[in-house]
Amino acid sequence: MVLAMSKLEFTGHCPVCRMTNISSSLTFNYQGVEHYFCSSQCLERFVAHPHLFVGDPKHGLSPKQKGLSALKKRRIGFAKPIDEELKAELKQSVLLLMGIEELIFDQECLYVTYDLLQVSLEQIESVIEQSSERLQSGLVNQVSRTFIHFSEECELDNLAHLTRDSSCH
Ligand SMILES: [Zn+2]
Repeated sequence: MVLAMSKLEFTGHCPVCRMTNISSSLTFNYQGVEHYFCSSQCLERFVAHPHLFVGDPKHGLSPKQKGLSALKKRRIGFAKPIDEELKAELKQSVLLLMGIEELIFDQECLYVTYDLLQVSLEQIESVIEQSSERLQSGLVNQVSRTFIHFSEECELDNLAHLTRDSSCH
């Protein structure tokens, strides 16, 4: 069991999105094993929840190694209507992220479907905020953000069968 898993860790795939074009400069040492990533996005995701991507003798294969995904659909409201130019810009930047399944724009919001194992709402929003800097801050509606981010992270912990002492339910 343990032997089989160490083998998996050396396949040359980004452990988060499974792409093979990993970078030698994006590394993270987890439990004595050096992991290589395709992007800083995937590295960030791994550091936040390594147990989702690397199995252990107690729990067996990780959710990602089992091929699981955690698809989410969220509505991200804009504080003001966006024009076509910004829409195109946002679309391009968000689709560069790993794990984005679908992106539908409305004038005042966008609906995004994504794999929570690969990308968090926080990362998506941060990309939106960066690309909309020319409109100054405040494009993304702040309502309930903290709660959503918190529950997303809790959900991932539950997915990995963690018995961590936390207030997540
Ligand atoms: Zn990746």
